[in-house]
Amino acid sequence: MPKVVAWRRDFHQHPELSNQETRTAGIVAAHLKALGIEVRTGVGGNGVVGILRGGRPGKTVALRADMDALPVVEQVDLPFKSTVRSTYNGQDVGVMHACGHDMHTAMLMGAAEVLSGMKAQLAGTVVFVFQPDEEGEAGKPQGAVAMLADGVFDHPKPDAVFGLHVGITSAEVGTLTYRANGFMAASDFYRIVVHGRQTHGATPWDGVDPIVAASQIVAGLQTIVSRQTKLTVGPAVVTVGAISGGVRNNIIPDSVVMLGTVRTFDTGMRKDIQARIRRTADLIAQSQGATATVDIQEMTTVTANDAAITQRMIPTLQRAAGAANVREGQPVTGAEDFGFFAERVPGMFVFLGVRPKGSPESAFVSNHSPRFFADEAALPTGVRTLVGLATDFLGERRM
Ligand SMILES: [Zn+2]
Ligand SMILES: [Zn+2]
Repeated sequence: MPKVVAWRRDFHQHPELSNQETRTAGIVAAHLKALGIEVRTGVGGNGVVGILRGGRPGKTVALRADMDALPVVEQVDLPFKSTVRSTYNGQDVGVMHACGHDMHTAMLMGAAEVLSGMKAQLAGTVVFVFQPDEEGEAGKPQGAVAMLADGVFDHPKPDAVFGLHVGITSAEVGTLTYRANGFMAASDFYRIVVHGRQTHGATPWDGVDPIVAASQIVAGLQTIVSRQTKLTVGPAVVTVGAISGGVRNNIIPDSVVMLGTVRTFDTGMRKDIQARIRRTADLIAQSQGATATVDIQEMTTVTANDAAITQRMIPTLQRAAGAANVREGQPVTGAEDFGFFAERVPGMFVFLGVRPKGSPESAFVSNHSPRFFADEAALPTGVRTLVGLATDFLGERRM
């Protein structure tokens, strides 16, 4: 544990943005090599893969951790607080492990050390997946997709994949939250451009006003979930997160640009909502003589936990955290690219609570906030969970 804590603090103090995780990847690769684990680097960018072959034949299990940080200025007063700055989208930004991936990387390094110490007894193979670029950038495949394209699951092909995430919910430190089937949402990025015709603000009839059309499209989009989607199938969210158009009070501009996100848990619903976004934008624009260009990009898939594996691994979670600290959770509308791994082979993703013991639930600050704080007391539970999932899966002969 002292080593895991030290790694975590070091990563926390030296966070690296998505696709810049070279220092972190170097430390991970050196550690795996020192343990005598077979190592591949540069997998899907800065990804590192370790392959530990046990002393006895058996199945293959993959454990995954992500390594990247976010463009956030840390506001938590820690002795190992980050003061790192970098460039993101051309802007000078602070960098912070505001999603807790520093803990994920440190815990999986710890699990690799424990498991390599049990090499002779291990029946099967453990693949350690240290992934870059989980946070992703619009228009680019995320780290999980890049690693899969680079063959991370090809030789050997895992029979199952496990991963965990700190925080996400306000659960207390050391607790584990699981859910069979859809656990985290699919995420789509969309961009709508409403094209009008520029004119003087005093004579709107001489042009086509994209601002009025855009404002009605915003309102129209809100009826997709509230009035048109069968919500008993699963939750859904349509958000407009950015809108811009115009430069001056008395000029009606030529166009308005809107950016948004969609969250769903069901493929049919996902496609249906995409079609309704196109129709809503198109027809509202048309009704006023404007036009709309709609571009929708599917970003992250649903993180769906294999129901049978989830059921079988509940006792493992209970041993790792204590039975009273394991609970079934509700679907989360946040998105995670672990879902791409779990689409390829059966998988399970769990949440590890990091809210300090005894602190009020209302004091929990969510991931991605500059005040996100993850209690290190969760680290032993996390390492036990990863090691337990691997050994129990490999030891379960009927699976
Ligand atoms: Zn995140
Ligand atoms: Zn994350």
